[in-house]
Amino acid sequence: METDGGAGNVVRNKKLMLKDYIKGSPKESDLHLTTESIELKVPQGSNAVLVKVLYLSIDPYQYIRSTKIEKPGYFSSYSPGSVMASYGVGRVLESGHSDFQKGDLVWGTTGWEEYSLITEPETLFKIQHSDVPLSYYLGVLVVPSFPNTGLTAYVGFYEFCAAKKGETVFISSAFGAVGQLVGQLAKLMGCYVVGSAGSQEKVDLLKNKLGFDAAFNYKEEKNLDDTLKRHFPEGIDICFDNVGGKMLDAVLLNMKLNGRIAHCGMISQYTLDEPEGIKNMMNIIYKRLRLEGFVVTDHYHLFPKFLDFMLPCIREGKIVYVEDISEALESCPAALVGLFNSSKLGKKVVIVATELITSQPNCSVLLGQY
Ligand code: NAP
Repeated sequence: METDGGAGNVVRNKKLMLKDYIKGSPKESDLHLTTESIELKVPQGSNAVLVKVLYLSIDPYQYIRSTKIEKPGYFSSYSPGSVMASYGVGRVLESGHSDFQKGDLVWGTTGWEEYSLITEPETLFKIQHSDVPLSYYLGVLVVPSFPNTGLTAYVGFYEFCAAKKGETVFISSAFGAVGQLVGQLAKLMGCYVVGSAGSQEKVDLLKNKLGFDAAFNYKEEKNLDDTLKRHFPEGIDICFDNVGGKMLDAVLLNMKLNGRIAHCGMISQYTLDEPEGIKNMMNIIYKRLRLEGFVVTDHYHLFPKFLDFMLPCIREGKIVYVEDISEALESCPAALVGLFNSSKLGKKVVIVATELITSQPNCSVLLGQY
């Protein structure tokens, strides 16, 4: 019988492997589900930690790392045949490291598998704040060793956008894991905020749930330049760019003098064989624009400041975090595909094991009932 009730048991461990480097849009068949036996035991003398995986985070960088494309200064690619990895939340089954005890709830880098033997326990952290949903340790609250949504929004907005009260802000992919937070930070700052997203449902949620001043479905707009002019008749002070491509080209035409563009991501380009060209670059000069790319992992030092800001905001309900949660390890491939087709609503999370869920605080948020 499969059980994780005690160390020393041998159980079956489902895991998802990358078949080969992904080319073009991801497909569920790019990943391979396999089952191996695992002894629920830490090798004698090692400082490894054995974790039962409860939640996994699904993010665009996992696609980027599954391609062969060179990423200088970024993360290396996963090797074909290796287990996919991301942030996970889990429960310690056995520990060879004095910082972790059996039963501890932890978050850190885990495999896309039911049980993970963490051989680098420095990538694992104990869950400190038990009054927020466990799944928040996959995105909004974690220290980044991989691109992390909460700190990304915070760093991008406060450090790179240098926003002031009353300025106009445009966010592309605004209902995503990062975009939804940036928009709320901009509203707290007193900015006028407009977001783009890929469905009417997201547009409605941006306006009615997250407090954006306006939003539009970029898939329904014939001319993005006209669309931005309609929403920003005086122009855009700040663009938080998650998408790149045609959207960025239209943004350049609509920036105000001395505007700022924070380049967080360019998801419209990730799956293309050849990236699209940008035609309106001269506006950078005419309008004295500042464009700056950033990678959140360069900004670890801001994490304590970020946490001091974000935890009270979440507890007081000043910031809402919408998650799109699916169940079972088997749903990970579809979740990865779903990052590229506008189907998900908010930060994508997969529940691998259902224990603890009903005992968690803020259970309704945890279960995605925004
Ligand atoms: P996300 O927005 O939660 O998920 C991706 C979303 O992108 C999809 O839901 C989809 O939403 C949109 N999208 C997919 N393909 C698109 C296309 N061809 N054109 C326009 N929109 C498209 O992802 P996230 O975690 O918040 O990340 C947002 C961006 O930031 C990504 O580009 C990511 O790579 C980047 N990132 C950067 C850092 C950093 O340190 N610089 C850290 C984290 C993330 P809709 O189509 O419905 O809008």
